[in-house]
Amino acid sequence: MVTSAPTVTLLDPPIDLSKDHHGPPASSSYTSYISLDTSKPRYFQNPWPSYRSASLNDAWLAYQKGAAIAYAQTHSIPPKRISSGASNHDDEEALLEVEADVEEIPKIRRVKSRVYVRPSFSEIRDEDEEDDWRDPPVTVVAPKWEKTEKETVTWLGHASVLARIPWEDKSKEGMCGLLFDPIFSYRCSPSQYVGPARHLDPPCSVSELPEIHACFISHDHYDHLDYYTILDLWKYHAATIHFFVPYGLKKWFESCSIPSDRITEFDWWHEALLSFPPSSTSPSSDSSDGLMLKVAFTPAQHRSGRGVLDHMTTLWGSWVVGVVSPSDVGRAQERGMNVWQGFKMFFGGDTGYRYATSPTQDPLSICPAFTQIASLYSPFSLSCLPISTGSSLPFLRTLLSLSLDQYTLTSALHCSPADAISIHRILGAERGLGIHWGTFCDPDEARGTRVEFGRVRRSAGLGTKWDEKGCFVVCDIGQTMEFEPFNSG
Ligand SMILES: [Zn+2]
Repeated sequence: MVTSAPTVTLLDPPIDLSKDHHGPPASSSYTSYISLDTSKPRYFQNPWPSYRSASLNDAWLAYQKGAAIAYAQTHSIPPKRISSGASNHDDEEALLEVEADVEEIPKIRRVKSRVYVRPSFSEIRDEDEEDDWRDPPVTVVAPKWEKTEKETVTWLGHASVLARIPWEDKSKEGMCGLLFDPIFSYRCSPSQYVGPARHLDPPCSVSELPEIHACFISHDHYDHLDYYTILDLWKYHAATIHFFVPYGLKKWFESCSIPSDRITEFDWWHEALLSFPPSSTSPSSDSSDGLMLKVAFTPAQHRSGRGVLDHMTTLWGSWVVGVVSPSDVGRAQERGMNVWQGFKMFFGGDTGYRYATSPTQDPLSICPAFTQIASLYSPFSLSCLPISTGSSLPFLRTLLSLSLDQYTLTSALHCSPADAISIHRILGAERGLGIHWGTFCDPDEARGTRVEFGRVRRSAGLGTKWDEKGCFVVCDIGQTMEFEPFNSG
């Protein structure tokens, strides 16, 4: 027997809620062309001074750093091509002609088959941990969907995460499935013929996922909102699934033939309660046996747009989901979740933290949203945070043969590992999971992310093991981790 979709109750937002992320109204002719519905904003903006467009100087720095990243490896280790329809090998061949002496790079034991190598990572430092240099940096493992007593989290590759919550009513089958930014397609692109392609497969198909009750979308970029994945989710999980989407995206989901009562659109800081009834076979049919969750759509510093004409016309953001434990039912309607006892998670989706080329003492270069989120919802049991630019600009490299360092160019929109660690600490998360990396990029880029993450995590003094309080980990695609409580003391 399948369980049912949640009942969603929107909570009234405070009347004095800031609307400074709503852009100026679109011109009337544009508005009437796009939609007759003028009750919701048609345009959005990042309201903070930390959101800055890349300057010419940033572009120059990105070019210089990118050229260094595309440093050619030596001939002494014969290059082996990996087959990918996405890459144009001409530029790689040109780079291979550049001579590099392997003798000058001692202990280079892992790099063997690719052209793009980050030189700062080509020398393993004494303090580096073996795990930072794992080869391959990411693997895909077959997920196990056992019913457990505790919450679990599974990384499904890129930014896709599945969290599973045990039912209050233990006689109920399976677990409550919360899916974030799912992508199962080969490419994150408007077309499955061109665009950034996977280097690693998803760990399973959409039909092999356990029951999904809520699907949360952070924004409409192709690597976070995938048309074929959404169609498959509706095809295989129609009995249970409800979609939670940013303002402006409901009509996109309706165009996928998903009924409007299964889609809820959120503005920043809006909250809702999700309730699941207890099993009808439960000995007591008391509704307090049902599971209740609270959901909040929170800000992120990012952008939106899938085509040429729709930039910033739908909202972007992050999600907070918390379990309303029996002791917190009385305050479930109140704003925030600070003092709650139940499991609480933050899903960052895709976000920037600070404008990287500004001086470190410039407080305005840091996005203030995470402190605001923490003031309402921390501490968290889990933070899922992006640790890499992901697949944002690889077409520049593959199509234009231009090597640009994506982080230098897009730091206002994307987190580096150090940025993610800063957010993790602001949020006061007991455990962190690195996402948005290692999937739509080649193994060298993934290794670069893994090594940099390991180094900044070490200098920040954060735990590396899942059972250490305050830990921040990266894992394999398909790997599931369970939320065992920490030993007290
Ligand atoms: Zn994005």
